Amino acid sequence: MGILDLFRLDGKTAIVTGCGRGLGQGIGVALAEAGANVFGVGQAPQADATGELIKKAGTKFEYFSADLVSREPVPRIFEGALQAFGHVDIVVNNAGIIKRNDTVDFTEADWDDVINLNLKTLFFMCQAGARQFIKQGTGGKIINIASMLSFQGGIRVPSYTASKGGVRTLTMLMANEWAPYHINANAIAPGYMATDNTEALRADKDRSAAILGRIPAGRWGTPLDVAGAAVFLASAAADYINGYTIAVDGGWLAR
Ligand code: NAD
Repeated sequence: MGILDLFRLDGKTAIVTGCGRGLGQGIGVALAEAGANVFGVGQAPQADATGELIKKAGTKFEYFSADLVSREPVPRIFEGALQAFGHVDIVVNNAGIIKRNDTVDFTEADWDDVINLNLKTLFFMCQAGARQFIKQGTGGKIINIASMLSFQGGIRVPSYTASKGGVRTLTMLMANEWAPYHINANAIAPGYMATDNTEALRADKDRSAAILGRIPAGRWGTPLDVAGAAVFLASAAADYINGYTIAVDGGWLAR
């Protein structure tokens, strides 16, 4: 078996949250191209565009619509994935939101929604994934989507910074507890990516120019930029990587 075979995900099942657009779509399609069937989860009633791309990649796609601000759907997501594909091997917690406001004016609702989706539901998805991997005796891969604000403070985004800082250290904790079960918990910290999440930033000429000027790679990232890291962390090529957050940021953190 050659090195590239280690990256194949044939026959694996991946649960991907927030798969309908942006980074989640890029990750879902990339996992499918590597051979995995995808059980996508998202808030929208459908994720047809992602479904089409995955069909083209040659694997199966099932979609489950759920509001992940509550952790209530988590057991049903796993039941659905097991019903569709019989086992779960990869869990990608990508769904996430950001709320911007001056911190002195920040509301409880903007705190709770972001923490609940980005951190609380993410935790219970990881827990459900680990329980399933242990039950299967197969091990498995957990990939959490972190942020530059897992490392930096940011500005006007207090609940986002708290949630993404939590994602990084929580991923380390889970890696410590679950590595003996051949479960790899890791994270990807995207830099500034051109998705709906950053539409407001990109529309603001001054902020956009300031951001671009600080990115060594000189451009916004794309969903394809994170896809390679996701396939790697989902694969046997990353079996000895535990609790690490890989930055995919065009060099932003290196400055
Ligand atoms: P996006 O807004 O395009 O996509 C977010 C996804 O999450 C969508 O599919 C959406 O349906 C889903 N989602 C939102 N609220 C949900 C809810 N209540 N229940 C279920 N699903 C919900 O943003 P994106 O840029 O693709 O972001 C994906 C992840 O990457 C997020 O965790 C985000 O914080 C992170 N991230 C993005 C950037 C960036 O620059 N775009 C940078 C760092 C981290």
